[in-house]
Amino acid sequence: MSEIKSNIEKTLHNAERLNGELNSFLTIERDYALERAAELEKSSDEKPLQGFAVAVKDNICTKFSQTSCGSRILGNYRPQYNATAIEKLLDAGAIIIGKTNLDEFAMGSSNENSAFGAVKNPWDTERVPGGSSGGSAVAVASGVVRASLGSETGGSVRQPAALCGIVGFKPTYGRISRFGLVAFASSLDQIGIFGQTSKDVADVLGAIAGRDKNDSTTAEVEVPNYSKNLDDDIRGKRIGVPRSLFGEGLDDEIRDAVERAIDNYKSLGAEIVDVELPNAKYGIAVYYIICTAEASSNLARFDGVRYGLRAENAHALREMYMKTREEGFGEEVKRRIMLGTYVLSSGYYDAYYAKAQKVRTLLKKDYFKAFEKCDAILTPTAPSTAFKIGEKSDDPLAMYLSDIYTVSANLTGTPGISIPCGLSAENLPIGLQLVGNHWSESTLLNLANVYETNFPLGAKPKIYAE
Ligand code: GLN
Repeated sequence: MSEIKSNIEKTLHNAERLNGELNSFLTIERDYALERAAELEKSSDEKPLQGFAVAVKDNICTKFSQTSCGSRILGNYRPQYNATAIEKLLDAGAIIIGKTNLDEFAMGSSNENSAFGAVKNPWDTERVPGGSSGGSAVAVASGVVRASLGSETGGSVRQPAALCGIVGFKPTYGRISRFGLVAFASSLDQIGIFGQTSKDVADVLGAIAGRDKNDSTTAEVEVPNYSKNLDDDIRGKRIGVPRSLFGEGLDDEIRDAVERAIDNYKSLGAEIVDVELPNAKYGIAVYYIICTAEASSNLARFDGVRYGLRAENAHALREMYMKTREEGFGEEVKRRIMLGTYVLSSGYYDAYYAKAQKVRTLLKKDYFKAFEKCDAILTPTAPSTAFKIGEKSDDPLAMYLSDIYTVSANLTGTPGISIPCGLSAENLPIGLQLVGNHWSESTLLNLANVYETNFPLGAKPKIYAE
Protein backbone atom coordinates (compact mmCIF):
# COMPACT_ATOMS: atom_id res chain seq x y z
CA MET A 1 0.00 0.00 0.00
CA SER A 2 1.29 3.46 -0.75
CA GLU A 3 2.09 5.97 1.92
CA ILE A 4 -1.01 8.19 2.06
CA LYS A 5 -3.36 5.23 2.06
CA SER A 6 -1.47 3.34 4.75
CA ASN A 7 -1.33 6.45 6.95
CA ILE A 8 -5.07 6.98 6.60
CA GLU A 9 -5.71 3.31 7.26
CA LYS A 10 -3.72 3.61 10.48
CA THR A 11 -5.53 6.83 11.46
CA LEU A 12 -8.94 5.21 10.88
CA HIS A 13 -7.89 2.16 12.86
CA ASN A 14 -6.89 4.35 15.83
CA ALA A 15 -10.05 6.44 15.60
CA GLU A 16 -12.25 3.32 15.57
CA ARG A 17 -10.28 1.52 18.26
CA LEU A 18 -10.32 4.43 20.75
CA ASN A 19 -13.82 5.71 20.11
CA GLY A 20 -15.56 3.16 22.33
CA GLU A 21 -13.71 4.55 25.29
CA LEU A 22 -13.46 8.24 24.39
CA ASN A 23 -16.59 8.96 22.30
CA SER A 24 -14.78 11.78 20.50
CA PHE A 25 -16.12 10.97 17.01
CA LEU A 26 -19.80 11.03 16.05
CA THR A 27 -18.97 9.64 12.61
CA ILE A 28 -15.83 8.06 11.20
CA GLU A 29 -15.94 8.24 7.41
CA ARG A 30 -13.83 5.20 6.53
CA ASP A 31 -14.93 4.70 2.91
CA TYR A 32 -14.89 8.37 2.08
CA ALA A 33 -11.41 8.90 3.59
CA LEU A 34 -9.90 5.91 1.81
CA GLU A 35 -11.37 7.03 -1.50
CA ARG A 36 -9.88 10.49 -1.00
CA ALA A 37 -6.52 8.92 -0.21
CA ALA A 38 -6.65 6.89 -3.42
CA GLU A 39 -7.57 10.01 -5.43
CA LEU A 40 -4.74 12.04 -3.94
CA GLU A 41 -2.28 9.30 -4.75
CA LYS A 42 -3.29 9.36 -8.37
CA SER A 43 -2.62 13.08 -8.84
CA SER A 44 0.97 14.19 -9.20
CA ASP A 45 0.79 17.73 -7.75
CA GLU A 46 2.16 18.11 -4.21
CA LYS A 47 -0.31 20.10 -2.17
CA PRO A 48 0.53 21.89 1.11
CA LEU A 49 -1.49 19.47 3.27
CA GLN A 50 -1.14 16.45 1.00
CA GLY A 51 -2.66 13.43 2.76
CA PHE A 52 -2.88 15.24 6.12
CA ALA A 53 -5.69 13.72 8.24
CA VAL A 54 -8.06 16.18 9.93
CA ALA A 55 -11.08 15.70 12.21
CA VAL A 56 -13.88 18.29 12.09
CA LYS A 57 -16.35 19.45 14.74
CA ASP A 58 -19.88 18.41 13.88
CA ASN A 59 -21.20 21.98 13.63
CA ILE A 60 -19.22 22.65 10.44
CA CYS A 61 -21.16 21.71 7.31
CA THR A 62 -19.93 18.77 5.26
CA LYS A 63 -21.88 17.28 2.39
CA PHE A 64 -20.05 13.93 2.66
CA SER A 65 -21.08 13.44 6.28
CA GLN A 66 -23.74 14.50 8.77
CA THR A 67 -23.78 17.81 10.65
CA SER A 68 -25.69 17.25 13.89
CA CYS A 69 -24.41 20.09 16.11
CA GLY A 70 -24.60 17.49 18.88
CA SER A 71 -28.37 17.99 18.89
CA ARG A 72 -31.41 15.78 18.49
CA ILE A 73 -33.04 18.56 16.50
CA LEU A 74 -30.56 18.01 13.65
CA GLY A 75 -29.78 14.32 14.24
CA ASN A 76 -28.07 12.96 11.15
CA TYR A 77 -28.97 16.01 9.04
CA ARG A 78 -26.80 16.21 5.94
CA PRO A 79 -26.04 19.67 4.49
CA GLN A 80 -26.06 20.28 0.74
CA TYR A 81 -22.75 22.08 0.71
CA ASN A 82 -19.34 22.13 2.35
CA ALA A 83 -18.26 25.00 4.61
CA THR A 84 -15.60 27.21 3.01
CA ALA A 85 -13.02 25.98 5.55
CA ILE A 86 -13.78 22.41 4.44
CA GLU A 87 -13.44 23.29 0.74
CA LYS A 88 -10.12 24.97 1.46
CA LEU A 89 -8.83 21.99 3.45
CA LEU A 90 -9.77 19.68 0.60
CA ASP A 91 -8.15 21.98 -1.97
CA ALA A 92 -4.97 21.85 0.12
CA GLY A 93 -4.93 18.05 -0.02
CA ALA A 94 -6.20 17.26 3.50
CA ILE A 95 -8.31 14.19 4.24
CA ILE A 96 -11.25 14.60 6.60
CA ILE A 97 -11.72 11.38 8.51
CA GLY A 98 -14.84 12.14 10.52
CA LYS A 99 -17.01 14.51 12.51
CA THR A 100 -16.41 15.08 16.19
CA ASN A 101 -18.62 15.25 19.25
CA LEU A 102 -19.47 18.60 20.87
CA ASP A 103 -21.72 20.30 23.38
CA GLU A 104 -25.09 20.85 21.74
CA PHE A 105 -24.82 23.86 19.39
CA ALA A 106 -21.39 24.53 20.94
CA MET A 107 -22.94 25.61 24.25
CA GLY A 108 -20.88 24.27 27.11
CA SER A 109 -17.46 23.88 28.65
CA SER A 110 -17.37 20.13 29.30
CA ASN A 111 -18.94 18.27 26.37
CA GLU A 112 -21.55 16.86 28.73
CA ASN A 113 -24.26 18.77 26.83
CA SER A 114 -24.02 16.58 23.73
CA ALA A 115 -27.20 14.68 22.85
CA PHE A 116 -24.86 11.83 21.87
CA GLY A 117 -23.06 11.26 25.16
CA ALA A 118 -20.14 12.83 26.99
CA VAL A 119 -16.59 12.80 25.61
CA LYS A 120 -13.89 11.39 27.91
CA ASN A 121 -10.54 12.98 28.62
CA PRO A 122 -7.74 10.61 27.50
CA TRP A 123 -5.59 11.66 30.51
CA ASP A 124 -8.30 10.36 32.87
CA THR A 125 -11.53 8.96 31.46
CA GLU A 126 -13.50 9.95 34.56
CA ARG A 127 -12.90 13.56 33.62
CA VAL A 128 -14.25 15.95 31.00
CA PRO A 129 -12.12 17.07 28.06
CA GLY A 130 -13.54 20.62 28.25
CA GLY A 131 -15.87 22.05 25.66
CA SER A 132 -17.55 22.77 23.56
CA SER A 133 -15.13 21.33 20.97
CA GLY A 134 -14.23 18.38 23.24
CA GLY A 135 -14.36 15.74 20.50
CA SER A 136 -11.95 17.66 18.26
CA ALA A 137 -9.63 18.24 21.23
CA VAL A 138 -9.61 14.56 22.14
CA ALA A 139 -9.06 13.43 18.54
CA VAL A 140 -5.76 15.35 18.67
CA ALA A 141 -4.85 14.70 22.33
CA SER A 142 -5.27 10.94 21.88
CA GLY A 143 -2.88 11.02 18.93
CA VAL A 144 -5.42 10.01 16.28
CA VAL A 145 -4.87 13.13 14.13
CA ARG A 146 -2.29 15.92 14.20
CA ALA A 147 -4.92 18.64 13.78
CA SER A 148 -8.65 19.25 13.90
CA LEU A 149 -11.17 22.06 13.47
CA GLY A 150 -13.32 23.35 16.30
CA SER A 151 -15.36 26.48 16.82
CA GLU A 152 -14.86 29.33 19.24
CA THR A 153 -17.56 31.56 20.67
CA GLY A 154 -16.18 31.98 24.17
CA GLY A 155 -13.18 29.68 24.44
CA SER A 156 -14.39 26.39 23.00
CA VAL A 157 -11.06 25.59 21.39
CA ARG A 158 -8.59 27.11 23.87
CA GLN A 159 -10.25 25.73 27.03
CA PRO A 160 -10.47 22.07 25.89
CA ALA A 161 -6.93 22.36 24.48
CA ALA A 162 -5.76 23.36 27.98
CA LEU A 163 -7.64 20.50 29.65
CA CYS A 164 -6.27 17.97 27.13
CA GLY A 165 -2.62 19.13 26.94
CA ILE A 166 -2.53 20.28 23.30
CA VAL A 167 -2.41 23.53 21.29
CA GLY A 168 -5.70 25.37 20.69
CA PHE A 169 -6.00 28.47 18.56
CA LYS A 170 -8.66 31.11 17.91
CA PRO A 171 -8.01 33.53 15.03
CA THR A 172 -8.85 37.24 14.73
CA TYR A 173 -12.56 37.79 14.03
CA GLY A 174 -12.81 37.80 10.23
CA ARG A 175 -9.67 35.73 9.56
CA ILE A 176 -11.37 32.39 8.72
CA SER A 177 -14.63 32.19 6.82
CA ARG A 178 -17.66 31.05 8.80
CA PHE A 179 -19.67 30.13 5.73
CA GLY A 180 -21.03 26.72 6.72
CA LEU A 181 -20.30 27.05 10.45
CA VAL A 182 -23.69 26.67 12.14
CA ALA A 183 -24.25 30.01 13.90
CA PHE A 184 -24.37 30.24 17.69
CA ALA A 185 -23.53 33.91 18.45
CA SER A 186 -22.53 35.66 15.25
CA SER A 187 -20.60 38.60 16.70
CA LEU A 188 -18.33 36.11 18.53
CA ASP A 189 -18.16 32.88 16.49
CA GLN A 190 -14.96 31.84 14.70
CA ILE A 191 -13.61 28.54 13.45
CA GLY A 192 -10.58 27.54 15.53
CA ILE A 193 -7.80 24.96 15.15
CA PHE A 194 -6.34 22.29 17.43
CA GLY A 195 -2.85 20.94 16.83
CA GLN A 196 -0.38 18.67 18.49
CA THR A 197 2.03 21.56 17.95
CA SER A 198 1.83 25.21 16.91
CA LYS A 199 3.34 24.18 13.59
CA ASP A 200 0.32 21.97 12.88
CA VAL A 201 -1.93 24.93 13.67
CA ALA A 202 0.11 27.27 11.44
CA ASP A 203 -0.01 24.84 8.51
CA VAL A 204 -3.80 24.44 8.75
CA LEU A 205 -4.39 28.17 9.32
CA GLY A 206 -2.42 29.04 6.19
CA ALA A 207 -4.69 26.74 4.19
CA ILE A 208 -8.05 28.00 5.49
CA ALA A 209 -7.57 31.73 6.31
CA GLY A 210 -8.64 34.57 4.04
CA ARG A 211 -11.44 36.58 2.51
CA ASP A 212 -14.52 34.67 1.36
CA LYS A 213 -17.22 36.21 -0.77
CA ASN A 214 -19.74 33.96 0.98
CA ASP A 215 -18.96 35.48 4.40
CA SER A 216 -19.13 39.27 4.47
CA THR A 217 -17.49 39.34 7.92
CA THR A 218 -14.21 38.01 6.53
CA ALA A 219 -11.59 40.71 6.11
CA GLU A 220 -9.58 41.72 3.09
CA VAL A 221 -6.28 41.17 4.90
CA GLU A 222 -3.40 39.37 3.24
CA VAL A 223 -2.70 35.84 4.46
CA PRO A 224 0.98 35.57 5.39
CA ASN A 225 2.94 32.33 5.44
CA TYR A 226 2.20 31.39 9.06
CA SER A 227 4.62 28.47 8.99
CA LYS A 228 7.63 30.59 8.10
CA ASN A 229 8.54 32.56 11.26
CA LEU A 230 7.77 29.95 13.88
CA ASP A 231 11.38 29.64 15.02
CA ASP A 232 12.25 33.35 15.01
CA ASP A 233 14.16 34.59 18.03
CA ILE A 234 11.73 36.00 20.61
CA ARG A 235 14.31 38.12 22.44
CA GLY A 236 12.88 41.57 23.09
CA LYS A 237 9.26 40.51 22.54
CA ARG A 238 7.10 42.10 25.22
CA ILE A 239 4.69 39.88 27.13
CA GLY A 240 2.05 41.63 29.21
CA VAL A 241 0.88 40.01 32.45
CA PRO A 242 -2.42 41.19 34.02
CA ARG A 243 -1.64 39.91 37.54
CA SER A 244 -4.85 41.33 39.01
CA LEU A 245 -6.67 38.51 37.16
CA PHE A 246 -4.64 35.78 38.86
CA GLY A 247 -6.69 35.94 42.06
CA GLU A 248 -9.97 34.47 43.16
CA GLY A 249 -11.08 31.15 41.71
CA LEU A 250 -7.71 30.21 40.22
CA ASP A 251 -6.20 26.86 41.29
CA ASP A 252 -2.88 27.33 43.10
CA GLU A 253 -1.22 24.72 40.93
CA ILE A 254 -2.21 26.61 37.81
CA ARG A 255 -1.00 29.92 39.23
CA ASP A 256 2.38 28.31 40.02
CA ALA A 257 2.67 26.70 36.59
CA VAL A 258 1.87 30.00 34.88
CA GLU A 259 4.39 31.89 37.05
CA ARG A 260 7.01 29.32 36.02
CA ALA A 261 6.06 29.81 32.40
CA ILE A 262 6.56 33.56 32.81
CA ASP A 263 10.08 32.88 34.14
CA ASN A 264 10.67 30.53 31.22
CA TYR A 265 9.71 33.24 28.77
CA LYS A 266 12.11 35.59 30.58
CA SER A 267 14.87 33.01 30.19
CA LEU A 268 14.17 32.98 26.45
CA GLY A 269 14.78 36.72 26.35
CA ALA A 270 11.20 38.04 26.38
CA GLU A 271 10.50 41.18 28.35
CA ILE A 272 7.72 40.87 30.93
CA VAL A 273 5.57 43.98 31.48
CA ASP A 274 2.64 44.65 33.83
CA VAL A 275 -0.68 45.43 32.17
CA GLU A 276 -4.12 46.24 33.55
CA LEU A 277 -7.43 45.06 32.10
CA PRO A 278 -9.85 46.71 34.54
CA ASN A 279 -13.01 45.59 32.73
CA ALA A 280 -12.00 41.95 32.23
CA LYS A 281 -13.79 41.05 35.46
CA TYR A 282 -17.07 41.77 33.69
CA GLY A 283 -16.21 39.43 30.81
CA ILE A 284 -18.34 36.48 31.90
CA ALA A 285 -21.41 38.62 32.60
CA VAL A 286 -21.10 40.45 29.28
CA TYR A 287 -20.42 37.26 27.35
CA TYR A 288 -23.41 35.36 28.73
CA ILE A 289 -25.75 38.26 27.93
CA ILE A 290 -24.50 38.76 24.37
CA CYS A 291 -24.11 35.09 23.44
CA THR A 292 -27.55 34.12 24.74
CA ALA A 293 -29.18 37.10 22.99
CA GLU A 294 -27.62 36.15 19.67
CA ALA A 295 -28.28 32.44 20.17
CA SER A 296 -31.99 33.05 20.82
CA SER A 297 -32.18 34.72 17.43
CA ASN A 298 -29.92 32.30 15.50
CA LEU A 299 -31.65 29.19 16.81
CA ALA A 300 -35.10 30.43 15.82
CA ARG A 301 -34.56 28.76 12.44
CA PHE A 302 -34.82 25.28 13.96
CA ASP A 303 -38.57 24.86 14.00
CA GLY A 304 -39.27 21.52 12.33
CA VAL A 305 -39.95 23.07 8.92
CA ARG A 306 -36.63 23.09 7.12
CA TYR A 307 -34.09 20.91 8.92
CA GLY A 308 -33.87 17.67 10.83
CA LEU A 309 -36.45 16.67 13.39
CA ARG A 310 -40.19 17.35 13.04
CA ALA A 311 -42.39 16.41 15.99
CA GLU A 312 -45.16 13.97 15.26
CA ASN A 313 -48.73 14.26 16.50
CA ALA A 314 -48.99 18.02 16.14
CA HIS A 315 -52.32 19.28 14.82
CA ALA A 316 -51.44 22.86 13.97
CA LEU A 317 -48.34 24.76 12.86
CA ARG A 318 -47.68 26.53 16.15
CA GLU A 319 -48.05 23.29 18.04
CA MET A 320 -45.60 21.61 15.64
CA TYR A 321 -43.02 24.37 16.24
CA MET A 322 -43.39 24.07 19.98
CA LYS A 323 -43.28 20.30 20.15
CA THR A 324 -40.29 20.10 17.81
CA ARG A 325 -38.30 22.57 19.87
CA GLU A 326 -39.38 20.97 23.14
CA GLU A 327 -38.29 17.51 21.96
CA GLY A 328 -35.31 18.55 19.87
CA PHE A 329 -33.34 20.91 22.12
CA GLY A 330 -31.53 19.90 25.30
CA GLU A 331 -31.69 21.66 28.64
CA GLU A 332 -28.73 24.05 28.23
CA VAL A 333 -29.85 25.18 24.78
CA LYS A 334 -33.34 25.88 26.13
CA ARG A 335 -31.86 27.78 29.08
CA ARG A 336 -29.87 29.99 26.71
CA ILE A 337 -32.79 30.63 24.36
CA MET A 338 -34.87 31.74 27.35
CA LEU A 339 -32.12 33.92 28.83
CA GLY A 340 -31.47 35.48 25.43
CA THR A 341 -35.12 36.17 24.78
CA TYR A 342 -35.34 37.81 28.20
CA VAL A 343 -32.33 40.11 27.78
CA LEU A 344 -33.66 41.26 24.40
CA SER A 345 -37.23 41.83 25.56
CA SER A 346 -38.41 45.42 25.32
CA GLY A 347 -38.50 46.10 29.06
CA TYR A 348 -34.99 44.76 29.71
CA TYR A 349 -33.08 45.46 26.50
CA ASP A 350 -31.42 48.65 27.79
CA ALA A 351 -30.65 47.25 31.22
CA TYR A 352 -28.99 44.07 29.92
CA TYR A 353 -28.22 43.86 26.22
CA ALA A 354 -27.42 47.51 25.51
CA LYS A 355 -25.41 47.78 28.73
CA ALA A 356 -23.41 44.64 27.88
CA GLN A 357 -22.52 46.12 24.49
CA LYS A 358 -21.20 49.25 26.21
CA VAL A 359 -19.04 47.22 28.58
CA ARG A 360 -17.80 45.23 25.57
CA THR A 361 -16.54 48.51 24.09
CA LEU A 362 -14.76 49.37 27.36
CA LEU A 363 -13.14 45.95 27.35
CA LYS A 364 -11.87 46.50 23.80
CA LYS A 365 -10.36 49.81 24.91
CA ASP A 366 -8.57 48.02 27.77
CA TYR A 367 -7.03 45.56 25.34
CA PHE A 368 -5.97 48.16 22.78
CA LYS A 369 -4.36 50.18 25.56
CA ALA A 370 -2.53 47.11 26.84
CA PHE A 371 -1.27 46.31 23.33
CA GLU A 372 0.49 49.70 23.24
CA LYS A 373 2.80 48.21 25.88
CA CYS A 374 3.12 44.58 24.78
CA ASP A 375 3.00 42.11 21.88
CA ALA A 376 0.87 39.53 23.69
CA ILE A 377 -1.01 39.17 26.97
CA LEU A 378 -0.30 36.05 29.03
CA THR A 379 -2.81 34.43 31.42
CA PRO A 380 -3.87 30.93 32.43
CA THR A 381 -6.29 29.45 29.85
CA ALA A 382 -8.67 27.92 32.38
CA PRO A 383 -9.00 28.38 36.15
CA SER A 384 -8.89 24.61 36.85
CA THR A 385 -7.61 21.40 35.33
CA ALA A 386 -10.05 18.83 33.87
CA PHE A 387 -12.90 18.30 36.34
CA LYS A 388 -14.85 15.11 36.95
CA ILE A 389 -17.77 14.19 34.70
CA GLY A 390 -20.90 15.31 36.56
CA GLU A 391 -19.03 17.65 38.91
CA LYS A 392 -20.43 20.90 37.51
CA SER A 393 -23.31 19.73 35.34
CA ASP A 394 -25.98 20.79 37.85
CA ASP A 395 -24.46 24.19 38.42
CA PRO A 396 -24.52 26.29 35.25
CA LEU A 397 -22.85 29.27 36.93
CA ALA A 398 -19.85 27.20 38.07
CA MET A 399 -19.62 25.84 34.52
CA TYR A 400 -19.78 29.36 33.01
CA LEU A 401 -16.81 30.41 35.16
CA SER A 402 -14.60 27.92 33.25
CA ASP A 403 -14.52 30.56 30.50
CA ILE A 404 -13.27 33.41 32.66
CA TYR A 405 -9.90 33.76 30.89
CA THR A 406 -11.06 33.00 27.36
CA VAL A 407 -14.23 35.04 26.67
CA SER A 408 -12.43 38.39 26.45
CA ALA A 409 -10.67 37.44 23.20
CA ASN A 410 -14.04 36.61 21.62
CA LEU A 411 -15.62 39.82 22.93
CA THR A 412 -12.73 41.89 21.56
CA GLY A 413 -12.24 39.91 18.33
CA THR A 414 -8.58 39.30 19.13
CA PRO A 415 -6.63 36.09 18.38
CA GLY A 416 -5.58 33.74 21.18
CA ILE A 417 -3.69 30.52 21.65
CA SER A 418 -3.44 27.97 24.46
CA ILE A 419 -0.34 25.83 24.86
CA PRO A 420 0.52 23.23 27.50
CA CYS A 421 2.74 24.55 30.30
CA GLY A 422 2.86 21.73 32.83
CA LEU A 423 1.10 18.93 34.65
CA SER A 424 -0.72 19.00 37.97
CA ALA A 425 0.03 16.64 40.88
CA GLU A 426 -2.78 14.45 39.52
CA ASN A 427 -1.03 14.29 36.15
CA LEU A 428 -3.52 16.56 34.40
CA PRO A 429 -2.42 19.13 31.81
CA ILE A 430 -2.30 22.88 32.52
CA GLY A 431 -2.71 25.45 29.75
CA LEU A 432 -1.13 28.83 29.22
CA GLN A 433 -2.90 31.45 27.09
CA LEU A 434 -1.46 34.18 24.90
CA VAL A 435 -3.77 36.80 23.36
CA GLY A 436 -2.52 39.25 20.72
CA ASN A 437 -3.77 42.31 18.90
CA HIS A 438 -5.91 41.90 15.77
CA TRP A 439 -4.01 40.14 12.93
CA SER A 440 -1.04 39.23 15.14
CA GLU A 441 -1.44 35.48 14.51
CA SER A 442 2.17 35.12 13.32
CA THR A 443 3.53 36.67 16.52
CA LEU A 444 1.38 34.40 18.70
CA LEU A 445 2.38 31.27 16.78
CA ASN A 446 6.04 32.26 17.00
CA LEU A 447 5.81 32.85 20.79
CA ALA A 448 3.95 29.57 21.23
CA ASN A 449 6.26 27.48 19.06
CA VAL A 450 9.44 28.76 20.71
CA TYR A 451 7.98 27.93 24.14
CA GLU A 452 6.90 24.44 23.10
CA THR A 453 10.22 23.56 21.55
CA ASN A 454 12.19 24.77 24.59
CA PHE A 455 9.82 23.54 27.30
CA PRO A 456 7.96 20.54 25.90
CA LEU A 457 5.33 18.88 28.07
CA GLY A 458 7.14 15.56 27.68
CA ALA A 459 4.19 13.36 28.63
CA LYS A 460 1.35 11.65 26.86
CA PRO A 461 -2.17 10.77 28.02
CA LYS A 462 -2.94 7.24 29.23
CA ILE A 463 -5.08 6.53 26.21
CA TYR A 464 -3.09 7.11 23.06
CA ALA A 465 -2.99 5.97 19.44
CA GLU A 466 -0.73 3.14 18.30
N1 GLN B 1 -18.11 27.52 27.09
C1 GLN B 1 -18.63 28.68 26.42
C2 GLN B 1 -20.13 28.59 26.33
O1 GLN B 1 -20.67 27.71 26.89
C3 GLN B 1 -17.99 28.84 25.10
C4 GLN B 1 -18.62 28.05 24.03
C5 GLN B 1 -17.96 28.23 22.71
O2 GLN B 1 -16.90 28.85 22.59
N2 GLN B 1 -18.61 27.72 21.70
O3 GLN B 1 -20.77 29.39 25.73
